[in-house]
Amino acid sequence: MKYNLEDIKIRIMDVVHSSSVDGTGFRDVLFVNYCPHRCDGCHNMQTWDKSNGRDVTLKEVYDDLMESSFTNVTFSGGEPFEQAKELYVLACAVKEGGKSIWIYSGYTFEQLLADEDKKNLLCVCDVLVDGKFDKNLTQLNLKFKGSTNQRIIDIAKSLEENKVVLFDDTFC
Ligand code: SF4
Repeated sequence: MKYNLEDIKIRIMDVVHSSSVDGTGFRDVLFVNYCPHRCDGCHNMQTWDKSNGRDVTLKEVYDDLMESSFTNVTFSGGEPFEQAKELYVLACAVKEGGKSIWIYSGYTFEQLLADEDKKNLLCVCDVLVDGKFDKNLTQLNLKFKGSTNQRIIDIAKSLEENKVVLFDDTFC
């Protein structure tokens, strides 16, 4: 089904360009608003309140991301999967535009697979960093995640092998 990006809105905090800490390489990061997980020690507590942030059309975000010369995009937050239906449409358009997508979530890979809308969004992305942040499991020099319980998952391989396959970041 074809969607009109101008007709769909999402609630975001910001789009940040040139990040090197939200996935491999340099990338553009969409920070969505709202998160229900309330992890102790969260660095993005402003996203817990639904009234924060602003509503924008998918077209506005899409144009912003596609203007960038970076081919990597990250959806972070907040909890991206709380707006799974809308972000699925954006993710499809971004992928068609030739970019790869990392996505962060407080939900686990298994939890996302159990919900149809969340699974749809998951399946169009390339890499998932999953699980709640646990301040008791932080370590110095963790790359692309905040605590050791979180997993950096190769989504396509995991779906193919029907088990979690970690993303190989040996050369990243
Ligand atoms: S999932 Fe992320 S944004 Fe949500 S409360 Fe936990 S650390 Fe904060």
